[in-house]
Order: sequence, then structure tokens, then C-alpha cells
Amino acid sequence: KKYTKEQLIELVQKESVEFIHLQFTDIMGVMKNISITCEQLEKALDNEIMFDGSSIDGFVRIDESDMYLRPDLDTFRIFPWSGEYKEARLICDVYNSDGTPFKGCPRNALKRTVNEAKEMGYTMNVGPECEFFLFHTDEKGEPSLNTHDNAGYFDLAPADLGGNARKDMIITLKKMGFNIEASHHENAPGQHEIDFEYADAVTTADNIMTFKMVVRIVAQRHGLHATFMPKPKNNMAGSGMHLNISLAHLDGKNAFYDENDKMQFTDVAYSFLGGLLTHAKAFTAITNPTINSYKRLVAGYEAPVMIAWAEGNRSPLIRIPSKKGASTRIELRSPDPSANPYLALAVTLKSGIDGIKNNIRPTNGVKNNLYDMEEQDLRDQGIDRLPTNLKEALIEFSKDEFMKKALGNHLYERTIDAALYEWNKYSKFVTEWEIDRYLMKF
Ligand code: GLN
Ligand code: MG
Ligand code: MG
Ligand code: MG
Repeated sequence: KKYTKEQLIELVQKESVEFIHLQFTDIMGVMKNISITCEQLEKALDNEIMFDGSSIDGFVRIDESDMYLRPDLDTFRIFPWSGEYKEARLICDVYNSDGTPFKGCPRNALKRTVNEAKEMGYTMNVGPECEFFLFHTDEKGEPSLNTHDNAGYFDLAPADLGGNARKDMIITLKKMGFNIEASHHENAPGQHEIDFEYADAVTTADNIMTFKMVVRIVAQRHGLHATFMPKPKNNMAGSGMHLNISLAHLDGKNAFYDENDKMQFTDVAYSFLGGLLTHAKAFTAITNPTINSYKRLVAGYEAPVMIAWAEGNRSPLIRIPSKKGASTRIELRSPDPSANPYLALAVTLKSGIDGIKNNIRPTNGVKNNLYDMEEQDLRDQGIDRLPTNLKEALIEFSKDEFMKKALGNHLYERTIDAALYEWNKYSKFVTEWEIDRYLMKF
């Protein structure tokens, strides 16, 4: 533990922090904030801050709406961009008024799965690769789809205005305790990636939420709009959030690495991989939760379409990076940054655990570029595809009873409701594409 209650109160006084934001995440993956003044910190640390859960998407009904926030003391961070008044945040778990963990809190759900893994003797470590676009804003501050930069993958473009913003993001993240491993310009104009160091699953999910907040705020200060929307533009790459997953034994040793195996994988690693492949169709509704997510999962842009794995190739769902030893890991390439990170990590970890518990063996890896393979070849090899839209994903999600176990009834049902609502709105909406296509023709 980093801080005790007393140390934290002292720190807030010493640093003259005026406002503290109590943060938590709703089902849709949106960060919520309740701000308190420094005088109320003690009350907050005693878990006495209450809020009305009925006003939050996917939370509770009016009649059971008193919710309590329990701050996680280790998540205390001062905002480096504070102005005249210093501000800080604490990430919280949501509790019911009777003192039980609230079932609709995504962070609680992830903790449940993490504890299950811990009982089996494992810590789940995750290193995410978040991609995003930086767009210019107009005179009114509204985001456009213009980037004014024509750099590509790994390019160092002097004219890249986004490059300065990216540097500023990295410095700000470092001030908040992030260890940044790498950052680069991604494939599409205006597209960037910043990679930070892996950590245990809950810390990583917290970090992803913080990361998105920082990237948005810093972009705004540079007159740019940062978006984690998975596919903002046609005919170019979308933004993914690859998850580099590994299990460690409780002593910290990588549980996926076996120097004697031909792929240097342990049995545990193979079964974890098998579990991911088995439940991939079902968990896509969580790792790719928006209508727009499925416009990214198409051939030709380094995003996965088929449920397969490979050692080097980047076209399948899972890639096994060549770096082994302590960094032996599985790279899951389907998640996108519109996913709720707590839920995305909960379903993927749970799927891997299921693989271990039931000793699920993965199918054979693939060698070819899957984008170039014919439907028939794929079928002959028993390679299935990821859902192609949110509706399909939802059907797969509801078919897999295991998802209910992974999320618990409350989150499971609210997820289905929310996605169906989204799908119904979308399917009724007449798009520009249809007008272009049909207005003249018929
Ligand atoms: N942008 C790609 C995606 O959608 C990934 C590109 C890469 O990191 N190689 O997943
Ligand atoms: Mg990367
Ligand atoms: Mg990338
Ligand atoms: Mg990657």
C-alpha cells in the first residue's frame, strides 16, 4: 500500500490541494466524477460519500439508488494541469448502502475475476497499446475530421502538429506516475499510439481510463480533438487497443514462459490461448461495444477479422510476439479503445482462466496472411470469423452462458440492453451511404 488515510490527508494539506475528484466508471466505460473540497476528504476516505445511482447510465433504479464511493487510496494523483486551484483525483469502487459491493460497478467485476485468478495462483498482467486520432477543431472549437498531417507509420514529420501535443501528453502522463515505453505516429494521418508499461489488470484498467482523460485534456489545450472512436474515417486504419496479456505466478515469475517448449510456451499459456479463442466470438460485444467498432474489424488495415492466432503475422486475432523470457505474452488484437477497460479485461481474463480450468487446447496457429485467404480455405481449416456487427456480436454474447458468469447478471443484462438500444437506433437511421447509393438508382 502506498498511502494510509492519515498520510493522504497530510499530503493533501501539504500540497494545498483544493478539490478532489472521486472517479468511477459506468457500464458504457464513461468516467464519472463527484468533486469534493479538501475539507471533505476525511469523510470520503471513511467511505461516506453518497451519490444517486439512478442518474447514471446502466446503474440502478430510483428505489435502490443510494450508492457509496470507496476510494482506492493508491490511485491518488494530483492533476499536473491544475490552474489556480490544485486538483487531484481518487478512483473509487461503488458500494451499496448495505456495505456490499455494487454488482453494476465494472471495477468490482474485474476485481472478482482477478481474485479468482489469484486463488489459482496467478496475477494477470496487461500492457495495452492505445491508438487514437488527433483532429483539428474549428473556430467554434468543434472537432473536424481534418488532420493537416500526412505522416505515416513511425514517421517523424516536422509538419506534424500532433507531434507536439503527443510530447505534452507523455510529459503529463509521466507526472502522473506513468512509465511510458514508446510512442509513435500510427498508420493513418493524425493517428498516434502511446504505450505505457504493463501492470496488474486493475491498475491497467485504471491507467487506461486516466490515459484517455489526459490525452483528451492535453489535445484540447493544443486546439486539437483526441478521439478514441474506433474507425473515424473511411479507407484508412482504425484505432485498436491491443492487449498484451500474461500471467505471473504469485512470486512474479512469468507463467507463460517455458524455455524447453518449441514456442517457449507453458501448458498454462496454451490453455489460456485456447480459452481466448473459444470465447472470442462472445466477448467481442464487450471488447468492441459500439456500432462503429465493427467498421474497424475489416480486412486490410491490420485489424483482425478471423479467430486464429499466429507467431508473427498481424492479420489474425492473436499474435504471439517473438520476445520471450520474462516478456512472454499473448497479444489480443481485437479490442478497441471504445471498450470499457474494466469489462474488457474481466471477460478476457475470465476466458483465459476457463481455458486453464478446462484444459482447452488451442487450434493450430496460422502462417498465411489471413486477409488473402479465400472463404473456403478458411472454412476447411476450421477458422471462424469474429462477429461482423454489433447485433451479431450480441447474439454470440448471449449464446455463451460463460459471459454471464464473467460479468454477473446485473452487468450482463445491462450490457445487452444498452447494446440493443444502440443497435435499434442505428438500424432505423438512414445514412449518407444509402442516399448516395439509392437516391438516383431507384
Ligand atoms: N490500427 C491497427 C488496428 O486497428 C493496428 C496497427 C498496428 O498497431 N500495427 O488494430
Ligand atoms: Mg503497437
Ligand atoms: Mg499500433
Ligand atoms: Mg500491437
